[in-house]
Amino acid sequence: MAVAIRTNKEIELIRAAGSVVGRILKKLREFADVGVTTAQLAEISDQMIADAGGIPLFKGVKNPAANFDFPASICTSINEQVVHGIPDSRKLENGDIISIDCGVKLKGYCGDAAITVTIGQVEPEILRLVDVTRQVLGIAVENAQPGMYWSQVARLMQDHAEKAGYGVVRDYVGHGIGRKMHEDPKLPNFVSNELLRNDFRLRKGMILAVEPMVNLGTWKVKVLDDGWTVVTSDHKPSAHFEHTIAITENGADVLTINE
Ligand code: MG
Ligand code: MG
Repeated sequence: MAVAIRTNKEIELIRAAGSVVGRILKKLREFADVGVTTAQLAEISDQMIADAGGIPLFKGVKNPAANFDFPASICTSINEQVVHGIPDSRKLENGDIISIDCGVKLKGYCGDAAITVTIGQVEPEILRLVDVTRQVLGIAVENAQPGMYWSQVARLMQDHAEKAGYGVVRDYVGHGIGRKMHEDPKLPNFVSNELLRNDFRLRKGMILAVEPMVNLGTWKVKVLDDGWTVVTSDHKPSAHFEHTIAITENGADVLTINE
């Protein structure tokens, strides 16, 4: 497995792409509200990517399990939907949570990030799921230091989610990113024999899209008939947070800040 090591100049180009993603997610977090459709969120994203001179990474992605390419610049996954939800005329309702994932290519380099947003009054048990999932990403960012094995980071992430009583999704994982959206290595948010066989140390210059997906109930998921939308097997809610980070000598540098 060859993991690209990026120069400081390349990291700045990825940060430029990542900052477009961060601005979009910030805007969509503010705009998402009761009665807003997921298609409206996608329109805002389309416009902001175009205004920045970027290319939407998700639009047109092929999937042999679906009979159409991904049609939008964001994924919008509501409640029991985990990832890869398709924007449409569905209106957000009071008590929903929505995971919004966005990827942008700018000047040949990619940024990828996701947030889960709460709509109106959300049940305390679901708010806790969202908070813990955000914390899981925070733990990864804090611990993604040069010299750490990825399995050590993954174990900290998994432990935090599982101690809260949640399931960590196994079927979808984080990834390296740079010239392309998906590059080596794979970054599972849990420890498995496969990870231990393919384990690697973090090195300065690696660019990683870290993205815990955490379920209120079982970790198991399935794909809807559209071939895209991933839902929890028990239909309980799921949350998703993602950042593109650069490994530096001082630890992880977040390239998709959306505050
Ligand atoms: Mg993403
Ligand atoms: Mg990703």
